[in-house]
Amino acid sequence: MSYKSPIEDLKYNLSMLDYSNTIGSIERFKEYDADTLMSAVGEIGKLNEQEVVETNKIGDREGLKFVPDGAEGPEVHTPEVYKKLYKTVRDSGYVGATMPTEFGGGGAPFTTAILSGEIGIASNMAFYMGPGLSHGAMKTILKKGSDELKQKYLPKLVSGEWMGTMCLTEPQCGTDLGLIKTTANPIDDHYELNGQKIWISFGEHDLTENIIHLVLAKLPDAPDGIKGISLFLVPKRLEDNSRNQIFCGGLEHKLGINSSPTCVMNLDNAKGWLVGDKHKGMEAMFLMMNDARLKVGLQGIAMSEIAYQNALEFAKERKQMRSVVKEKQDKDSKADNIIVHPDVRRMLMNVKSTTEAMRALCIYTAMKIDLAEDHPDEKVRESAEDFAALMTPIVKAYCTDRGFQNCSESLQVLGGSGFTQEYPLEQYLRDVRITQIYEGTNGIQALDLVGRKLTMHKGRLLQNFQKEVQQFLSENKDDDDIKQFIVPLQNALKEVTASTMWLMQNGMQDPENALASASDYLNLLALMSLTYMWARMAKYSVGKNEPIHKNKIKTGTYFVEKVMPELVMYSQKVQAGKSSMMEMDVAEF
Ligand SMILES: Cc1cc2nc3c(=O)[nH]c(=O)nc-3n(C[C@H](O)[C@H](O)[C@H](O)COP(=O)(O)OP(=O)(O)OC[C@H]3O[C@@H](n4cnc5c(N)ncnc54)[C@H](O)[C@@H]3O)c2cc1C
Repeated sequence: MSYKSPIEDLKYNLSMLDYSNTIGSIERFKEYDADTLMSAVGEIGKLNEQEVVETNKIGDREGLKFVPDGAEGPEVHTPEVYKKLYKTVRDSGYVGATMPTEFGGGGAPFTTAILSGEIGIASNMAFYMGPGLSHGAMKTILKKGSDELKQKYLPKLVSGEWMGTMCLTEPQCGTDLGLIKTTANPIDDHYELNGQKIWISFGEHDLTENIIHLVLAKLPDAPDGIKGISLFLVPKRLEDNSRNQIFCGGLEHKLGINSSPTCVMNLDNAKGWLVGDKHKGMEAMFLMMNDARLKVGLQGIAMSEIAYQNALEFAKERKQMRSVVKEKQDKDSKADNIIVHPDVRRMLMNVKSTTEAMRALCIYTAMKIDLAEDHPDEKVRESAEDFAALMTPIVKAYCTDRGFQNCSESLQVLGGSGFTQEYPLEQYLRDVRITQIYEGTNGIQALDLVGRKLTMHKGRLLQNFQKEVQQFLSENKDDDDIKQFIVPLQNALKEVTASTMWLMQNGMQDPENALASASDYLNLLALMSLTYMWARMAKYSVGKNEPIHKNKIKTGTYFVEKVMPELVMYSQKVQAGKSSMMEMDVAEF
């Protein structure tokens, strides 16, 4: 297995997206200029390459152990190597890097979490889910918790001494959280929670002494449905170190991420404390979910990258058949490396050109989140918030659907070897599959885009993005050096405009039309966004001589010629509407 952190490409993206004059100029981040940031990310890269990558297969094969009769109740044992590994990662300062310094964090921008997060995930996705979810928990407590909760819980979460989880799902509700049955009753200064949560990642494990659960539950006077949900902090251990009544009832056996514990969690008069306002739990939880959704999209990108690197290494060594071009044939061998064959290049270029564009889009979105939270100008904050809200479902869904496709296409490069356990591709394919499901399935992301984000503030989110793309086109329409990017971007914008109009008209008359076209519309808008990223990369790289710039122009040209045309298909599919699927009776399926 091979992995080299894509440091050069991450650096490239910070310059191309003008990090220094945007995030770098915010007072709070003045210590995090691009060089300092990249030097920290470089250290994370070394640590992961040297110590984490090798644990990925070990974790997958060894898996987890559920011990029902542990000293204080059921226990979950992680793979043997994980304890030392967690200590190393914790000591590196990775866990709380973006948390405020007053709670012991590094005070770095959120963008850092995306840069170093990609490296961690590629190295061992299942392991890094723990620190990743903990980051979301910290952010929620920071934004919505009382001062007392912050003082009590943040320092140890930030240092990594404790870990946090997110407990939403119950047997009868996944997508539809309005169906939650877990209850919370006020008793003295706290609440008592009763119910069962399922599929809780890192709900129980042996990496930290304490686990801080954020749990959705309903108060006795809660209105029905989604509006009646509140959020509670439920620690595994109470202040006097005694065990709180929240226990793991079992582990799932899964297709992938075998070393990430997916737990049933039973709450039996467990003590909890309210986070945020009563009945406003979903609002608080969304803070955690948006953060988490972007990071799940990042999982798709990270897995694409490591899958690509392994496929490339194989393609440069495996010899099969002759190149049809005599001059390209290896005279010392009876066959050529498969990388000479156009169809192998097609697969590699599909993965490479989408991965690099998705990375740029994800970093751009992370930078907007930093601007939305910390820029002094309210107008900048508002427009950055709009962009991040629009892109969150796109990054989550498109980058994970493509991530799965990219892992599959990379596996295909290895032929039969890819299907065997001798190579890591089969594990990547199994591991990445969950990203299309959790944090809200990709179908639900599409509904969020079409049902909420397109209509929010009278359509302002998309209109502003369209304006940004149009402005780029106007400024560069006469730049012949990047003409091969400008024309496709113009076409992409036209398709998006036409399909949005269709959606508005036909979705308004009949909402099922909008729902039937939502996933296709998400793919359409995603492909336009990636085309825009490639056009910006081309603008930045054209005329520069270093290899990375020449490489970008070539890779981007492949994208606009061979990947971007999928956009026309999605636009047609959007405008085909609902009838062919909705006219079937259930019995006809
Ligand atoms: C490995 C793993 C880890 C997880 N970790 C966590 C965790 O840490 N915390 C946590 O709370 N949960 C966790 N989950 C749960 C996860 O978030 C849910 O599985 C997910 O949100 C989907 O819910 P569901 O499985 O109940 O599917 P359902 O809601 O039953 O949906 C089934 C299908 O119907 C579709 N569907 C449902 N409603 C609609 C609709 N209105 N329109 C169109 N399509 C619809 C869905 O897209 C999906 O394809 C985890 C799950 C797994 C497998």
